[in-house]
Amino acid sequence: MHTAEKIHDQASGTNAMDAPYLTSLNEPQRAAVSQTEGPVLVLAGAGTGKTRVLTTRLAHILRSNKAFPGEVLAVTFTNKAAQEMKERVSHLLGGAPVDGMWLGTFHALAARMLRRHAELVGLNSNFTILDPDDQNRLMKQLMENEGIDHKKWAPKAMIAMVDRWKDKGQRPQDLSADEGGEAAGGRLVALYGQYQQRLRVLNACDFGELLLHMITIFRDPQNADVLGEYQRRFKYILVDEYQDTNVAQYMWLRLMAKSTDPERPSNICCVGDDDQSIYGWRGAEVGNILKFEKDFPGATIVRLEENYRSTGHILAAANGVIRNNEGRLGKSLFTSGDHGDKLIVRGLWDGEAEARWVGEEIEQLQNKGWSLSQMAVLIRAGFQTREFEERFIKLGLSYKVIGGPRFYERMEIRDALAYFRVIAQPADDLALERIINTPKRGIGASTVQTLYAYGRSKGISLHDAIMDLTQTDELKPKMKASLMKLLDDFIRWRDQMGVMKHTDLAAQVLDESGYMAMWQSSKEVDAPGRLENLKELIAGMEEFENMAEFLEHIALVMENRDGHKAESISIMTLHAAKGLEFDAVFLPGWEEGLFPSQRSMDESGLRGLEEERRLAYVGITRARKRSFISFAANRRMYGSWVNAIPSRFVDELPKDHVEVQSDQGLYNAGRSTHWDSSGSSVASRRSATVTDRKVVSENGTEFSRGDKVFHDKFGDGVIINIDGHKLDIAFNRGGKKRVMDSFVEKITE
Ligand code: ATP
Ligand code: MG
Repeated sequence: MHTAEKIHDQASGTNAMDAPYLTSLNEPQRAAVSQTEGPVLVLAGAGTGKTRVLTTRLAHILRSNKAFPGEVLAVTFTNKAAQEMKERVSHLLGGAPVDGMWLGTFHALAARMLRRHAELVGLNSNFTILDPDDQNRLMKQLMENEGIDHKKWAPKAMIAMVDRWKDKGQRPQDLSADEGGEAAGGRLVALYGQYQQRLRVLNACDFGELLLHMITIFRDPQNADVLGEYQRRFKYILVDEYQDTNVAQYMWLRLMAKSTDPERPSNICCVGDDDQSIYGWRGAEVGNILKFEKDFPGATIVRLEENYRSTGHILAAANGVIRNNEGRLGKSLFTSGDHGDKLIVRGLWDGEAEARWVGEEIEQLQNKGWSLSQMAVLIRAGFQTREFEERFIKLGLSYKVIGGPRFYERMEIRDALAYFRVIAQPADDLALERIINTPKRGIGASTVQTLYAYGRSKGISLHDAIMDLTQTDELKPKMKASLMKLLDDFIRWRDQMGVMKHTDLAAQVLDESGYMAMWQSSKEVDAPGRLENLKELIAGMEEFENMAEFLEHIALVMENRDGHKAESISIMTLHAAKGLEFDAVFLPGWEEGLFPSQRSMDESGLRGLEEERRLAYVGITRARKRSFISFAANRRMYGSWVNAIPSRFVDELPKDHVEVQSDQGLYNAGRSTHWDSSGSSVASRRSATVTDRKVVSENGTEFSRGDKVFHDKFGDGVIINIDGHKLDIAFNRGGKKRVMDSFVEKITE
């Protein structure tokens, strides 16, 4: 029986309003679920059950026969969240899997749609989805062609600007030629145009393009039937994490949510929290959530105030931090749960000591019976993972890195994937270029350039250029033989695609291409690890029906889905942790410059700082029971050591809810009790920062404005400002810096 019919059968004879799932909701939550008709916005703080409302609403719509699974569009923030929502919905409906729902991330949903209509925008339905690495390489090629210095203008930065335009729904023709400013020598908009042309030749899309193409199709009056089909199809639209939608996502949603029947309102339900908007740097517009009522007249706004996730101390600490933001709607949250344990705030000597301490705390929790899978280390910057990974390996703690430098981004994995991509899609130039001479086949960069130049002149792909040129005498015989062999291999593998099991084919390709042999004979220390990864890759492919499905998954799922069943602790960025929850959360690296990130403050000033603070709020509110915040006095960042000072967010933690622990003498060199384990340091520092500077000196800081000082690394300088134990110093060499008082000495003349 069709799943949809099953649901209807189950529901028949029962009044859906009596359904048991509704009784596990509080009053406003229930209102948001049962008000299925018309626009609904749930605007509420962390852990108040927004996602739970959305999931229950979806189950409720199906259960009460309002729509078939295929008539509901549900957007989640990650693929993992989509998977969870799917499982929860089927659980709420009695266990049978629910098939046919349009449930996924913006990218996954748009990709699925675009495959159905690719020809309307000049693509084949088997188009490739480029990942950020491919995008960078493509941009670099274009810059090389144009003679633009890619040392001066990093292709990655150029792509970031292109992506931002795409987030706003802007194509090259929507921009004036000088919109890119100085970037790429003033030629970025032109490069963007060329980049778009290349995507077409490659039969490829980047992530932004998936949505943009769909918007183009929807807006073209000639395709009115396509838009109409989706508007009619999706009787209900549900969106999680609405505060982080960008303009393009918003346009796509609005087009589909527009009701075809003036009598019938748009049944769209969005949930979000303005305090958790953390993707401004990637084009998210928190304004979208604020103008919901205007966009969808007659919208019902639901506010939820009871937090069900965290203990009282955790919630109070999070509120204490976010209170410092100015631009917010402001909401009050409460919990009827316990106070629980205070948050631990810990200062350590360096990153290694920090990882060691985190490891110890994890083991203690494990000894108390806590599960590793209910713990997470949430970092601000990718480089922070390494120290934790090393420590966990040493301790034998099973861990997984989610997001960040992932399994699928490792060199050998990308190489293998490139082979598979060329098999699936011969026109995938970037993939072909990647492995054309890996392992070594004597096909050098200049040959590749020749092939590209020929391809460009004829408007054909690299693959086809090789086909053509190997028919002529233009290439040296040896080169020609190498290339012909490679083409023959690919033709043979491609023929096998529909015949052989995809995992067997994958193994055969890696074998026959000589790629495995290359690593087997390699003397590099990491070669054995790479071979293991390749095996792991093939094992992981088992989960998929065929090669195409697997490649689609890779392109979309940028998360490391660990195939191992063992319980493991998660390491991920704060950004990736949105919407998730754990019993215990470790928040390391709370230091000025690292968190809040200097870059985001330099680039966006107060706006950047407030976004960082929202990130802190997201981090703290991931914890159900325990939260551990740490900072180090010395931090190696991007290859050099810095004397770090505790983050201002540490200061903002309300003292009644934290327990301060610091290694003795870490920050004060015997001068004061600051950051010692006395627990009073936060209090004394708070008063020091808000009251007269004199209090500071009474507290033990012997410095005054105008004092001449010496610092080991920066040399001589003069104090221009004092903020508690932080000194702003104008150094004779190296300009203005902020350092802890314990790192400088007063020069008395
Ligand atoms: P975030 O803003 O972090 O995304 P959220 O608002 O989406 O949070 P949920 O993840 O839906 O919150 O819920 C937080 C936790 O509270 C979950 O474990 C959820 O099961 C639980 N919860 C939500 N509502 C209730 C309720 N009425 N009774 C009991 N538990 C609830
Ligand atoms: Mg949520």
